[in-house]
Amino acid sequence: MLDRPDTKAAWEARAAALKPEARAFIDGRYVAAASGETFARISPVDGRMIAEVASGDAEDIDRAVAAARRTFEVGQWRDADAAHKKKVLTRFADLVREHTDEIALLETLDVGKPIANAIAVDVPYCANCLQYYGEFADKIYDEIAPAAGPDELALVRKEPLGVIGAIVPWNYPLIIAAWKIGPALLAGNSVVLKPAEQSSLGGLLLARLAVEAGLPEGVLNVVPGFGEKAGKALALNTQVDMVSFTGSTEVGKLMLTYAGRSNMKRVSLECGGKSPHVVMPDADLRKAAEAIAWGIYYNQGETCHAGSRVLAHESIRAELVAAIADVQRKQIPLGHPFEAASQLGALIEKSHMERVLGYIELGQREGAKVALGGKRALVETGGFYIEPTILDDARNEMRIAQEEIFGPVVVVIPFKDEVEAVRLANDTIYGLGAAIWTNDMRAAHRLSRAIRAGTVWVNTYDRSSLTTPFGGFKQSGFGRDRSPHAIDKYMDYKTIWIDYR
Ligand code: NAD
Repeated sequence: MLDRPDTKAAWEARAAALKPEARAFIDGRYVAAASGETFARISPVDGRMIAEVASGDAEDIDRAVAAARRTFEVGQWRDADAAHKKKVLTRFADLVREHTDEIALLETLDVGKPIANAIAVDVPYCANCLQYYGEFADKIYDEIAPAAGPDELALVRKEPLGVIGAIVPWNYPLIIAAWKIGPALLAGNSVVLKPAEQSSLGGLLLARLAVEAGLPEGVLNVVPGFGEKAGKALALNTQVDMVSFTGSTEVGKLMLTYAGRSNMKRVSLECGGKSPHVVMPDADLRKAAEAIAWGIYYNQGETCHAGSRVLAHESIRAELVAAIADVQRKQIPLGHPFEAASQLGALIEKSHMERVLGYIELGQREGAKVALGGKRALVETGGFYIEPTILDDARNEMRIAQEEIFGPVVVVIPFKDEVEAVRLANDTIYGLGAAIWTNDMRAAHRLSRAIRAGTVWVNTYDRSSLTTPFGGFKQSGFGRDRSPHAIDKYMDYKTIWIDYR
């Protein structure tokens, strides 16, 4: 393994020498799109082209699904014994760890996140997730129902669904791919992964590592391409038994229609959020401010459960806003993703940066005040950066408080009492995450039950573990990633009655 670069210049040299594989991975090998078409991936770090990526369409999806279907029917992986599945998936995790720098560099160039975070968080989390599910392989039991008489047996078997179409977004490409690949493969399914068009490179490398780890060719396929072409073709394909989708609520709704128009495939949806922090007057404000600032500025605010709406009691709002700004200045510097000190990097692409800047402008027209940041930054890099921003004194009915901005922008809204706080927290189409900041445990208990969200944090934010389910209520979707519960959605129950008489 090469030594890890320790300066921006050294990372830049490594990036310049990189020749990422950008063809589709179908049936165990890299292949060009059937049409021969490619699209240019421009890095948000500096605006330079990093790869010509295969532009998959229905024909490539059909080939990948056919490979996945064939391998599933043959059963080499589906019926492999538990010890073998465990060995392959844990070896897959080890190979991801061994390729940490290469994968992290692809992730940073594709997505714009600081390389230090990609190394410390994204790659190890991806590997740990694959290992976590690999280790489940020999811990899943079937059941014998108590319904049968003495000469009968009623078995309840959990069986894999077949071919899983995994459609993922660009903000945490590796982690979210692992959340789906890990439990789907453990359950014995075959998979076709469709990465977001902005971030195909990490997933394409993962597929090769899976085969190196011993996964039979054709069990895991990756087809890059645009949502309207490759994503839609995958979700409409009648040989796909389930679509496991993470992305926007708008596209999540399309998944339901694709399933209805094709073969009634199952659908699991992890969609958008507008997660509130409720900060009560007795809260530890410094602790709350630290969690709020990290929660919205980490990963440039491009996090589905970013706490993007702060509901602050009117008596502490001004102090809280000043504390969030102070934490950002002291602890979460914006910088070039190859600088070791950077904690906040580039936004995914130019159009998205412009969209986020548009929301900052809209917020001011709606009457909110910029209390921090608000402008484009690091223009000289050629990349797409925005200053960490606070929009203060907003109201919950404003568009900036209702719509997902998906950037380093937090909206602060005052409230008068607990009843109003709960009403505002729930006044959103989303229900992904929420936090409550108070030292009154009775209030914490009341509020955490009253707020409709998949995860409620009390006096903390973004605590996460592979052992806890993650997902949303309302239009944040349904179905859960992570934890043993995620395995269930990639399997179904079969009842087998046996008569011995
Ligand atoms: P997106 O919905 O635009 O795209 C997600 C995926 O769907 C991509 O692979 C894309 O190519 C594909 N797609 C787009 N249009 C399609 C179509 N018509 N048919 C089929 N596939 C299509 O989302 P994004 O911009 O990549 O990601 C950001 C969104 O993802 C945010 O809304 C964020 O909240 C959400 N997200 C949710 C979670 C979660 O766990 N709940 C996690 C991360 C991101």
